[in-house]
Amino acid sequence: MKTLYVNKKSEASMLKHAFEAAGFRCLRMKTFCDCRDQGNIRAGVIILDGDKVLLEIRRCKACFRRHNPNLCTGGVGQ
Ligand SMILES: [Zn+2]
Repeated sequence: MKTLYVNKKSEASMLKHAFEAAGFRCLRMKTFCDCRDQGNIRAGVIILDGDKVLLEIRRCKACFRRHNPNLCTGGVGQ
């Protein structure tokens, strides 16, 4: 299973809609991220391919930055 971190809720929604349009089932859920501080419960979406989880999307700015260190977000986010 692959885990994808996104910065914004709108990005998670966009991906969810894209996968739904492609015929996958998508479920919103609460998930956890790699941040060690308390309260690392994140909004997530899982993408199902039949009965297998294809991809898990988690929304966390800190994890997004950690997993995409070279990505320039153009000053997005606060
Ligand atoms: Zn995190």
